[in-house]
Amino acid sequence: MFWREETPLGRLSATDARSRYTKEKIVDLINEVLAIVKRRNPNEAEFFQAVEEVLFSLEPLLKAEPKYVNAGILHRIIEPERQIIFRVAWVDDKGRMQVNRGYRIQFNSALGPYKGGLRFHPSVNGSILRFLGFEQIFKNSLTGLMMGGAKGGADFDPKGKTDTEVMRFCYSMMTELYRHIGPNTDVPAGDIGVGGREIGFLFGQYKRLKNEFTGVLTGKALNWGGSLIRPEATGYGAVYFAHEMLAAAGDDIGGKICAVSGSGNVAQYTVEKLNQLGAKAVTLSDSGGFIHDPDGIDGEKLAYVMELKNVRRGRISEYAEKYKSATFVPGQRPWNVKCDCAFPSATQNEISGDDAKTLVKNGCKVVTEGANMPTTLEGTEVFLGNKILFGPGKAANAGGVAVSGLEMAQNSQRMMWTGEEVDEKLQGIMKSIFTTCSETAAKYGHPGNYVVGANIGGFVKVADAMLDQGLG
Ligand code: NDP
Repeated sequence: MFWREETPLGRLSATDARSRYTKEKIVDLINEVLAIVKRRNPNEAEFFQAVEEVLFSLEPLLKAEPKYVNAGILHRIIEPERQIIFRVAWVDDKGRMQVNRGYRIQFNSALGPYKGGLRFHPSVNGSILRFLGFEQIFKNSLTGLMMGGAKGGADFDPKGKTDTEVMRFCYSMMTELYRHIGPNTDVPAGDIGVGGREIGFLFGQYKRLKNEFTGVLTGKALNWGGSLIRPEATGYGAVYFAHEMLAAAGDDIGGKICAVSGSGNVAQYTVEKLNQLGAKAVTLSDSGGFIHDPDGIDGEKLAYVMELKNVRRGRISEYAEKYKSATFVPGQRPWNVKCDCAFPSATQNEISGDDAKTLVKNGCKVVTEGANMPTTLEGTEVFLGNKILFGPGKAANAGGVAVSGLEMAQNSQRMMWTGEEVDEKLQGIMKSIFTTCSETAAKYGHPGNYVVGANIGGFVKVADAMLDQGLG
């Protein structure tokens, strides 16, 4: 039986190749779409991985709702609406010309202006930004706020650069980027390597070029349009999501031993919220290795980490020199440390299948992704197969973009809400994302599988908007 829908687009597509996909053959359709992704984006492992995970988890939805297949939503959603690549030339402190590559991937605007961070890291390339932009579509949808999905950045390494070098780079980056963004078009934010300093320089240049003071970027400083709780939001939100998963399982985060990776924005505020809720964070990491402090990273030690990383821009190994309770393990990630909960908060693919097995063997019961796609597909299968409470990044780390959405709302109102107000809204949003993941997973036959719940829950809202808006 071919699928035929009474929608205009459904009727149009009934004669098209997609109509040969019966409910039994939906996997063939998914494989066909994946083949298109591979052909258009050869050698893009990260982008392919992100699409593969989402498309296969949509299978039960696509079987139940042929309208999405008939309207070609899968074929459309895997192709960014617009991709901009540009040269960023700048001059270093020694007067030498430097050149980097800048990007903005405007993936999907069905739900609102494009929204997603900028990443400055030497590993940045099209594959990484397409995977991040693709994930962002569903994450933004899950927040319930009206935001499309995008991502951008440059293969620029802020490490070891002076403030003036970072400033010159940001000016040059914005000199091209400003043409493509705007408060109602595309509102970038921070990500790896882009914090308050970089957002300030980028904003300053946008303002000069446009002669406009608008909410074109989020993650701004508090004294000129930022939102309270924005720096904290991703880490706090990840812990709120873990709290919801545990509460649904009749448990509590209090007293739990937690392994956290990374030592940047997300990791720092994850540790802060874990401390506030009575859990004990025992690890942090950076690209040099990890520290293990069995006594716990309390408030005083966390303040040291914040000063070390955000002001002195030092290495996490220095923590073990300062605190004798800690050991530094060079070149490794913290996943062989015994813990109840893991919060991967550094970067993509930092938990392999073997790391996942080690975590499970050591008794870890909860994994909450503060980073984007930190777990490989093999690792995800290990966690789901072992009934670990697994919060996928597009749900668990959505608190950051959610408060960015709230920053946009405050900028539009020319108002500033109190920290309590914003935190309350953040908690409400994380709770509602969890409910969407949980209820959607159960509805489509995978109770407790929050990967399926997040992917279907995020997809439906975007896909319905795309149906309403016709071709595009
Ligand atoms: P930061 O730049 O503040 O910190 C990144 C941390 O991860 C640093 O400790 C860094 O170490 C480490 N790291 C980065 N790349 C690698 C690598 N290849 N190998 C090992 N360690 C690495 O970034 P954020 O905390 O903002 O972002 C962390 C993750 O969270 C990213 O996946 C990001 O996409 C995601 N995220 C961030 C949001 C936000 O609001 N900031 C929102 C949602 C998701 P080093 O200093 O040595 O490079």
